[in-house]
This record gives sequence, C-alpha cells and structure tokens, in this order.
Amino acid sequence: MLFTPDACANCDTALAIDVRGLFCATGCRETAKAIRYARAALRDGRLDDPEVMRAVDAKFVWARMGGYDTRERRVPLQVLAKVRIRDQGRCVKCGASGEEVDHIAGSSPEPENLQLLCRRCHHAKTMVVRAPEADYVLRAVRLPLWNERVLPDGPVRLCDSAEWVRVWSGLAAERRRRLHG
Ligand SMILES: [Zn+2]
Ligand SMILES: [Zn+2]
Repeated sequence: MLFTPDACANCDTALAIDVRGLFCATGCRETAKAIRYARAALRDGRLDDPEVMRAVDAKFVWARMGGYDTRERRVPLQVLAKVRIRDQGRCVKCGASGEEVDHIAGSSPEPENLQLLCRRCHHAKTMVVRAPEADYVLRAVRLPLWNERVLPDGPVRLCDSAEWVRVWSGLAAERRRRLHG
C-alpha cells in the first residue's frame, strides 16, 4: 500500500515543511475519506442503495471542490418541515414567501444551521455551483477515482484502507518529530 513520508498521502505532492498533517490540502484529505467510505460501502452492500451511491458522489464532488460542498445539500424532510414552521413560511431576510432552505454556514443539516429564504435572497447569498457544473465535475472525478482506488480488492494507498484511521496520527506525530525535533 502506497505511503511516502513527506508526500501527500492522497496525491504524492511533496508536503511543505509547515504542513502538520499528511495531506497537501483539505480536498485531498476529503478525497481519501470519500474513497474509504466508498470502499466500505461497496463491500458491505450499502452501495446497492441509490441514496448511498448519491452520498458517495456528493463526497467525491465535495472533495474535488476543495472540501466545500457546492451541491445543494440534502436536508431530511422532517427537518425541512421544522424549519418552515419555525420561520413561519417567510424569508427571514425580507419577509417574502420563503421558498428555499439555506445553510447558514458550512453544511450541517441541523435546524440551527438552516433558515428559510425567498429565491431572491437565497440567490444573492449563495455561490452555489449550478447542477450542470457539478455533474461535469462528477463525471470527471468519479471514473478515475472509482477505477483506480475504489474497485481494486486491496487498497492501493494506505489512506484508502480502513487501517488509516488507526495509523495516521502515529505517522503525523513521526513527521512532526522528524521535522521539528
Ligand atoms: Zn494532495
Ligand atoms: Zn427574501
């Protein structure tokens, strides 16, 4: 399994001396995490569920976008209903009819992180990459990741293996000791 000290565990880019972790960027860390999820889900049969497959795709796209999820993030229906009732069906910014549920910051689907907005206020606030671009990214990223790292029986990279969650902190500590004494 591929792991090279001082190179990004996901893409082999040489790590700058001030990088404390084992990845060159958040997107690389998120990619490895998505690969581990996909590998596990493929092998325990969860991927047969189209919802899980969509979740895997969303993780791949998120990772490629640098760890920022640019797709419309799905919120459970009960939570949507709760937010609509709490905000009384009105845009919390301008009071117009509230049509869209907005993530206030980050991607947490908790009600405290959600607010009802009208289409106009939502559009003004978000920089959501529209679906065709997300689809393009998905096509561009899914196939190579899938063929090279999800399908092979044995993990190709150490960061793709289930073992990673047990070994990464030791490897990171070893790097810190070596670089900073
Ligand atoms: Zn990298
Ligand atoms: Zn509004």
